[in-house]
Amino acid sequence: MEDINILKEENEKLKKMVEFKSDLISISSHQLRTSLSALRWILKMFIDKDLGSLNNEQFNMLQKAFNSSNKMISLVNDLLTLSHTEDTMLKLQTKEVDLINTLEQTIFDFSGESNKKNVELIFIKPESIIPKAKCDEELIGVVFQNLIENALKYSKPHDNVFISLIQKDKEIEISFRDNGIGIKEEDKNHIFDKFFRATNALDKDEVGSGLGLFTSKNIIEKHGGKIWFEESNGGGVTFFVSLPLN
Ligand code: ADP
Repeated sequence: MEDINILKEENEKLKKMVEFKSDLISISSHQLRTSLSALRWILKMFIDKDLGSLNNEQFNMLQKAFNSSNKMISLVNDLLTLSHTEDTMLKLQTKEVDLINTLEQTIFDFSGESNKKNVELIFIKPESIIPKAKCDEELIGVVFQNLIENALKYSKPHDNVFISLIQKDKEIEISFRDNGIGIKEEDKNHIFDKFFRATNALDKDEVGSGLGLFTSKNIIEKHGGKIWFEESNGGGVTFFVSLPLN
């Protein structure tokens, strides 16, 4: 009995520490994001020449500072998503979810980005009726966002990204196929590591933090599902997510 009480006490202490840590991350990230956004806004005014004309050197330097502020904001946003995800994962809010709807909504949310990139997002809908899956819709939405964002980021202009959803027995399998830069053999074992970014992704000068796949894997595994990738036909990568129906 004594041991159980000690364990309970320790458990409570740990819970408080976790809460404190995530509060700290989210408060500091929010404050960082506010200051960085103000900085970015000022830099944008210079670049747009709202504050007077600039010579070439000044313009180039300010453009670099503007790009760096964008990268920092993106990192802070990913940290906020991770900390929010860790909090919500302590208590998954599951319900019956129509994953086709969730996917369609996410694809729609990326339509501006895909136009800008000249990459078409093509959803291959299932021919039969798909049962709803029991999951936390918000968190699964985060996974779909990460995978679509990556497929767009690492594609070449005028490429297509194919997204499909099928039922396989008691599971739903969703795939995201691109023909982009692909993942090199030596990087394959690290893709889901926290903060990992492959050299070909860094060379592409795309904004990223290496947190998206780590967060996605945590979410999918918390749901009793699986996430993996394979080389696409014709080059590039296909990411798969498999979720149990119950
Ligand atoms: P990031 O913010 O860098 O995209 P992620 O955690 O989402 O972080 O992805 C980790 C790394 O995995 C990326 O930096 C990139 O090297 C690689 N990666 C992810 N998705 C793809 C993809 N569709 N094609 C090629 N490489 C990818």
